[in-house]
Amino acid sequence: MRGAWLTDQGCLDLTTSILVTRRLHEEQTPYQHLEIYESPRFGRMLVLDGAVQTTEADEFIYHEMLAHPGLLTHPAPRRALIIGGGDGGLLEETLKHPLERATMVEIDGAVVRRSRQYLDVISAGAFDDPRARLVIGDGIAYVGDARERVDVALVDSTDPVGPAAGLFSGEFYAVLADRLTPDGVLVVQSGSAVYQHELIAMVRRNMAPSFRVVRTYAATVLAYPGVLWSFTIGSLGRDPLDVPSSEIARRTEGFGLRYYTPAGHDAAFDLPPYLRDAIAAR
Ligand code: SAM
Repeated sequence: MRGAWLTDQGCLDLTTSILVTRRLHEEQTPYQHLEIYESPRFGRMLVLDGAVQTTEADEFIYHEMLAHPGLLTHPAPRRALIIGGGDGGLLEETLKHPLERATMVEIDGAVVRRSRQYLDVISAGAFDDPRARLVIGDGIAYVGDARERVDVALVDSTDPVGPAAGLFSGEFYAVLADRLTPDGVLVVQSGSAVYQHELIAMVRRNMAPSFRVVRTYAATVLAYPGVLWSFTIGSLGRDPLDVPSSEIARRTEGFGLRYYTPAGHDAAFDLPPYLRDAIAAR
């Protein structure tokens, strides 16, 4: 099969190469280099600054696992806030819940435009949901200025470089905690569970002062370096491990989920001892 190798520079000392057969789009936005590729293995892929962000083939895993553990840890979320997530996949999963509103703050409008143009199967109409409110802007500034309180905040950002760096800081988590309702929950993508232990430990350390419960869980995101990817949840109220499986089953009935399950909820938090030790907030 003709094609070329796209090498993901996701981690400094390791690369992942994926065969691509066509580059459908390329542009330099004010924030990052944006590419859309076609690959036999993963279908269409969004690539930002050389790092694979999401692919048609495995986006459901990442977006289900970033959305549902946190939305279900909150007993009855009505308003959600998404920071980043320009491809719309997280918005789609979030809106499966009976929310009044989901506000999505994405700094780069080009990511939304090109995702809608080339990857609309990922957002699956979520941008047109009357409950969705899209804000093109910096999530840090938005949260700093916002007075609206939300029940669940989800940070689906690029890794902590450039405009995303501040999204991993203790200051940002403290302001976010202040924007949450009393049972509020924050979930962030916290990097590779295999190769970015220091990043995960930093996220947990930065969340700890602002949240009663901080837990990290993992899922296999096939196109990401090392495959096993981490998510870290901060809760002002319920511990994610106290959500009854029966409640998860009831509240996700009809969601059409393909990865996340009631039993898989607790299992995702059951990290191997070496990993648990490696990410313990130092
Ligand atoms: N799933 C991907 C991952 O784990 O790396 C993230 C996908 S999503 C496309 C990441 C988005 O975060 C990008 O569209 C980027 O523009 C956005 N982003 C980065 N920094 C931001 C900020 N400060 N405020 C809002 N959006 C930001």
